[in-house]
Amino acid sequence: MRTAYQYKLKPNKEQVAIIELWLHLLCRQYNYRLSERFLWWKENRCAINACPLIVPIPQLRDNPDYYSQKKDLVNTKDKFPEYKLIHSQVLQDCIKRVKLAFERWFKADKNGQRLGKPRFKKKSRYRSFTYAQIKQDCIEEKRINLPKIGKVKFIQHRPIPDGFKIKTVTISRKADGYYVTLSLEDKSVPTFDSDVEPTPENTLGIDMGLKDFLVTSLGKSVPIPQYYRKSQKRLKTLQKRLSRKKKGSKRWLKAVKAVAKQHKKADATPRRPQSQGNAHQAVADKRKDFHFKTANELLSNYEVIAHEKLNIKGLAKTRLSKSINDAAWGQFLAILTVKAVSAAPPQEANAGQKIMAVNPRNTSQDCSNCGKKVPKNLSQRTHSCPHCGLVIDRDVNAAINIKNRAAGHPVLKARGVRCNSRTVKREAHTIA
Ligand SMILES: [Zn+2]
Repeated sequence: MRTAYQYKLKPNKEQVAIIELWLHLLCRQYNYRLSERFLWWKENRCAINACPLIVPIPQLRDNPDYYSQKKDLVNTKDKFPEYKLIHSQVLQDCIKRVKLAFERWFKADKNGQRLGKPRFKKKSRYRSFTYAQIKQDCIEEKRINLPKIGKVKFIQHRPIPDGFKIKTVTISRKADGYYVTLSLEDKSVPTFDSDVEPTPENTLGIDMGLKDFLVTSLGKSVPIPQYYRKSQKRLKTLQKRLSRKKKGSKRWLKAVKAVAKQHKKADATPRRPQSQGNAHQAVADKRKDFHFKTANELLSNYEVIAHEKLNIKGLAKTRLSKSINDAAWGQFLAILTVKAVSAAPPQEANAGQKIMAVNPRNTSQDCSNCGKKVPKNLSQRTHSCPHCGLVIDRDVNAAINIKNRAAGHPVLKARGVRCNSRTVKREAHTIA
């Protein structure tokens, strides 16, 4: 099983200088390797239907790949001795990032999603580097020993769980300082794949919405806590302030930082120690606490929890992205999944639970009773079916649909009808 812990770093001035220098050099290296790959395409490209009469004969060379670029690092170090200052594995990891960026451009991932063309990075957008491996005893009391940087103070607000080994270490710069992320692995704990079969009895459907945090298929709703809204309001104020500043000015930069900080607070960031907690941090903590409590409550009563498959990327393209709930849903589902999966025996209580993501198509449009489509817009809060006469809250209807997609529709299944029909045409931008 693999997990990641993040801690706040407290580097001294010299260490900050080293980290910043590395980030700067790595950014340069990244851009150079990217251009090397682009250049190869440019030199070897030819129009599909014609060959130009005058052809510049480029030096024939191999398409730069991960291995050739990695090999070439020797030349880089020769030409630019400052690269010798960087830990060799950190430098190699930079090449790996170029490789990954290209792979994600050409090939779709398992969800069929492809990313865009890799972009050159500005210095401010290159914010992290990774040690591919590290000694297990790198952590001493309140300090982490990073090769070629030295012992850096950090706030270990929680200990590394027993039996876990540190696989990789990533240092990143964020709006409010530097962080270290440890990727941990315990091979003895298998990634637990529950084999519980979802049935109408053991399954609960949840519909996550804008009005309520979530609504269950039994009609119970969990409201959005007040502090969400407050945090969102603050973000709006800050963004308004930012828009009034002259771009590039000192005040503008200050406003940018303030927005970034607020975003981070709103994000699903790991918990920071209470000691330096300010009012806003308390909000993030509170929210996480709320997520844990909600997850516990759901898992204490049901073996299978079904939710809509969230398309965070798609969501970001619509006006709903303004909602602070985007990040919150992601965090909540992550907590829910981890809680259901990781607490394998000996804590039998949580073992054998399953979180299922179902196809979100038309969950709010279809009738949960007869399966027929009942079109409605976002403002219609009640589902009232002209076919079978069912009248219930629209979110509850959606939650029941979600449950049925996981567990099967009790009536339709018996009749042999597939309730999750794929022939229904998708409506553009219906998310609800
Ligand atoms: Zn109906």
